Amino acid sequence: MPRLIFLGAPGSGKGTQASLIADFYSIPHVSTGEILRCAVLNQTPLGLQAKLYMDRGDLVPDQLVVALIQERLNNPDVKEGWILDGFPRNVAQAEFLDSLLSQIDQPYDYAVNLEVPDDVLAGRMLERGRSDDTEEVIRNRLKVYREQTSPLIDFYSKRKKLAVVNGDQIVEGVTVELRRLIER
Ligand code: AMP
Repeated sequence: MPRLIFLGAPGSGKGTQASLIADFYSIPHVSTGEILRCAVLNQTPLGLQAKLYMDRGDLVPDQLVVALIQERLNNPDVKEGWILDGFPRNVAQAEFLDSLLSQIDQPYDYAVNLEVPDDVLAGRMLERGRSDDTEEVIRNRLKVYREQTSPLIDFYSKRKKLAVVNGDQIVEGVTVELRRLIER
């Protein structure tokens, strides 16, 4: 069963594809964004802290997200494979993840980058209309992505773990390419 890290800018379709692929292989879709949104809705202590950052389109502090992912990846249901969506988001998180995965003996297969041109990204985000999808917040999320998350492309490329998939095609087209990558 696959163990994949999904990279890609906000609006790249990473959440949609992560969910489809996780369903297809019946493995957990671990989305830090979803877990955080749920914590915000339930007004947990984590949610109350995270909301301030999410509303602005900034990254939630590493220490909060790292604790969350550590707990999630130690759950027995992820033993047979998983899709990580939205984590890591910066180099410090990627380094943490590397050491966590070797500690629990769960090496990942690939970090998949869904490539989508910049002008397509903003349009897609405005269409989906999530509460953190207003124009100003979108602009900040793209900036945060460029500054903090996009260096991960290099990070995984250097480790020979990067797989690039064209995300600028219909949903089914992307899914087919991903399944081909997993099954090769
Ligand atoms: P997403 O659903 O992946 O687009 O995430 C939505 C928001 O949750 C982001 O804009 C961040 O504020 C926060 N978030 C999700 N994952 C992380 C992470 N790994 N590190 C820090 N913040 C995160």
